Amino acid sequence: MVDQRKDLSQFIDAALLPELQLSPSSGEVELVLLTCMDFRYPQRILDTMESKGLKGKYDHLILAGASLGVLLKPEWKMTFVDQLRFAVEKHGAKQVLILDHRDCGAYKEFLGVTPDDPAQELEAHRCKCRQAMDVIVQEIPSLAGHVHSLLLPIENVDELGHA
Ligand SMILES: [Zn+2]
Repeated sequence: MVDQRKDLSQFIDAALLPELQLSPSSGEVELVLLTCMDFRYPQRILDTMESKGLKGKYDHLILAGASLGVLLKPEWKMTFVDQLRFAVEKHGAKQVLILDHRDCGAYKEFLGVTPDDPAQELEAHRCKCRQAMDVIVQEIPSLAGHVHSLLLPIENVDELGHA
């Protein structure tokens, strides 16, 4: 089986940048990021996007659980789809990247999924991301073929002691 693991930076280089046609003059952002509200991730994501020259070139939507947020409640889905449609119509967005993450509080709260079983956790995110991507393509068919999803790893901190 092909190892599909990449870090976010590698994924952007390999899969995203070749598809993005960034034209600084048009003011179009082309890309919409959907992420979870988890406080551990935004700065890391912003830093990675900036390092790829994408600062100011994407719209960022945030829902608890990212993919799960699209599916969990009808009003969450409606809000997300409305805002995504706004990004497509007003900002010229042509790509969507869903960034789920491991050890997600929303997945734990609503699905009982925890990092204790990494394989089950991966499968739950794969399943929900597939459903969320289907919703996006159903609602906005012009995005078909241009919706990606990734599962970010847990960011561990190793305590080294104190004095
Ligand atoms: Zn989360």
